[in-house]
Amino acid sequence: MEDSKKIIIVGAGLCGSLLALRLVQRGFKVELFEKRPDMRRKELDAGRSINLALSSRGLWALDRVGLKDRVLETCIPMKGRLVHPIDGDAFLSPYSGRADDHINSVSRPGLNALLLDVAELNDDIQIRFECSVQKVNLEQARVEGFDHKNNCSFSSQGAIVIGTDGAGSVVRRTLMARTPELLFNYSQDFLRHGYKELSILPDSNGGFKIAKNALHIWPRGHFMIIALPNLDASFTLTMFHPYESEIGFNNLKTKEQLKAFFEKYYADLLPYIPHYQEEYFSNPVGNLGTIKCYPWQAYGKCLIMGDASHAIVPFYGQGMNASFEDVREFDELMDVHGDDWDKLFTSFQDKRHKNTNAIADLAIDNFYEMRDRVDDIDFKEKRKLEMHLEQNYKEYYSKYSMVTFRPELPYEKAMILGRKQDEILLNMVRDKSQVVNVDRVLTKIKELHENMRNEI
Ligand SMILES: Cc1cc2nc3c(=O)[nH]c(=O)nc-3n(C[C@H](O)[C@H](O)[C@H](O)COP(=O)(O)OP(=O)(O)OC[C@H]3O[C@@H](n4cnc5c(N)ncnc54)[C@H](O)[C@@H]3O)c2cc1C
Repeated sequence: MEDSKKIIIVGAGLCGSLLALRLVQRGFKVELFEKRPDMRRKELDAGRSINLALSSRGLWALDRVGLKDRVLETCIPMKGRLVHPIDGDAFLSPYSGRADDHINSVSRPGLNALLLDVAELNDDIQIRFECSVQKVNLEQARVEGFDHKNNCSFSSQGAIVIGTDGAGSVVRRTLMARTPELLFNYSQDFLRHGYKELSILPDSNGGFKIAKNALHIWPRGHFMIIALPNLDASFTLTMFHPYESEIGFNNLKTKEQLKAFFEKYYADLLPYIPHYQEEYFSNPVGNLGTIKCYPWQAYGKCLIMGDASHAIVPFYGQGMNASFEDVREFDELMDVHGDDWDKLFTSFQDKRHKNTNAIADLAIDNFYEMRDRVDDIDFKEKRKLEMHLEQNYKEYYSKYSMVTFRPELPYEKAMILGRKQDEILLNMVRDKSQVVNVDRVLTKIKELHENMRNEI
């Protein structure tokens, strides 16, 4: 593709594929580089079924490219967290007091493949798989790299380069290498926890072994397992565990240690996962971290988005949703700035980065909530109050609901109001000197909303 007006995108993951599709729909030419083989032709990730929670922010962006309904057909709705305490009965904690609110379990490779299939229907896109971008010339919007399929180097020049190359982004590192000039700020915070995927297979009749329409959690204090359903009636389990300590990934090394550990902490799960040893020892452990940086653009020629500019931990189920929201907001700003790239990039990064910083912080908060507090008595009381308020006061949305079900509300605003609401509710629940009175709670929440009317 030899067009000086073309847009180069680095990384054909979820964000890059959606962005490429939207840009060709808008009439641009796109050259999309992806270092991995074409996922539609070669099975990646050792055949594991990996799924994600898709919610309203992601769906809004998919609507923009006309794919919302097609994607929803491939999803399994999840109405709440089905919590499996170590002692006691499992219980459902709905995500919201509003009957229709739910999140959706979607296959990551399935969604990615659909975006690529639809983008490729357009002649203006060229997708170059197995092409790893290694260098970016920021001023000239030129990329260089290695084509592993044809065993040769490549270079390509466009009007602009957009890096959607994920948390380890080469494009971001190029911006970082120009720190003195760009005043590039960067922070990276790894959790001392990693993750590993296991699975629950369908039962002998091809049905679901545990409740289908829920996100299951086995909270165990400093660690947990979660499970999301797949269309083939399996579940993908994700173990979130520390690396260190006696139950850490680094120390659970033998079959005997693993068996003793699962029997002690996940006895209720064991009957569903007879093959857990095999999966545990063959599946890799992934890192979990938060990356924040600024600026996201240079010279109106190069921009980063998606995980490349804001990688977050997965505990709010918002990484992909936020990356899709990037594409929607970028698209809306194109209506204002057209291809005045400098203005477009600057307004995009300034609008987005405070919001992606907010969801990064909320995702860390949720890590502690999911593993430590979902089965805590005060937390359960607070959830009951939230349900009551959502059912009886139409202006009330819990922090979770604002993030997950109100895509028109920026993450930062959801965080500010949500934290204030949480403080009121938790103080009431923790005050053991008096019985919680829902009318008093409602009055306090209404006062807060009144006081914050101009801020949110
Ligand atoms: C365990 C886990 C669970 C998660 N669950 C959820 C969830 O439930 N809901 C949710 O919304 N989010 C979730 N996320 C987050 C979500 O996966 C990411 O936010 C999302 O994948 C980001 O998309 P992206 O396209 O920006 O980056 P990526 O998906 O990482 O894609 C980047 C692409 O760029 C390619 N690439 C990288 N470097 C180069 C290069 N030099 N040249 C060419 N190509 C390159 C990569 O091969 C890849 O295809 C989860 C994340 C994890 C780790």
